[in-house]
Amino acid sequence: MLHLIDALHLNTPNVICVAVLQAGDGTLVMIDCGPETVFENVVRELNQRGLGAQNVKHLLATHIHLDHNGGAWRWQREFGTTVHVHPVGAPHMIDPGKLVASATRIYSERMGYLWGEIQGLPATSVAVTADGQQIKVSDLELSVLETPGHAQHHNAYWFEPSKILFAGDVAGVVIGKGPVFPPCPPPDVNIEKWKESLNRVRALNPAQLFLTHFGLQARPDVHLTELETRLMDWAVWMKERMLEGKSEEKILPEFQRFTGDQLLAAGASPADLQAYEQADPAGMSVTGLCRYWRKHHPELLLQA
Ligand SMILES: [Zn+2]
Repeated sequence: MLHLIDALHLNTPNVICVAVLQAGDGTLVMIDCGPETVFENVVRELNQRGLGAQNVKHLLATHIHLDHNGGAWRWQREFGTTVHVHPVGAPHMIDPGKLVASATRIYSERMGYLWGEIQGLPATSVAVTADGQQIKVSDLELSVLETPGHAQHHNAYWFEPSKILFAGDVAGVVIGKGPVFPPCPPPDVNIEKWKESLNRVRALNPAQLFLTHFGLQARPDVHLTELETRLMDWAVWMKERMLEGKSEEKILPEFQRFTGDQLLAAGASPADLQAYEQADPAGMSVTGLCRYWRKHHPELLLQA
């Protein structure tokens, strides 16, 4: 039985959704717990629904970005939850020093407000995943699908009985009536790898996609085509601005207008616009995509 919980990040609905599967014996498997700032909200909601937060024995982390799993350590400490995570992400869950340092460079004094406290997990509570691995919990079984592109250390989790793919960020962001946006943060957004991952997702022929931002999406085929088209569109747009010799500071307001128009054209409401910016900040995609071009295709940035 699948339960979806709006974690109400910063008291805002439709930004972070937490998925929980309940096994026949009552054990709960959570897919991405959100940052530490939403821990109490999610615990309260699980208890109000009679599911019992203490039954969250397994957390399947799609990736280690703080909006997805910054609060994993709290679940482990309070309830003894085992955290399943990609081998590249695992060391950073145990010792989050580097993760915190790089996030602090981006968010500076807003770190605590956005994400709360961040602590390391005991190594014994971290289960390192492998591509294709079956994770069995009571009568539930999910399989691991490595899906780099948004982040190098990204897993999606496939639940065959319902043909749902818990997609983290690899299947993008959709809020309200808005379009599908590809979150492109630094440091390792990679267009080629992302496209390969989208093909892996398509090959499963999912009935539904679960997005952390935000919730279940029907019509995965249409959704994934829109995502891939927009990912390419944004990447090419960014390369053109770089070829014009513009700095990231100069590009940002232009990118905000460019993507703002896409949101409005699709029929997003003002509240949706705010939720998009909270879930997928424009500034992150500017930095991420500029870095992608400089790192992977510097030859294409040489002006004629
Ligand atoms: Zn992410």
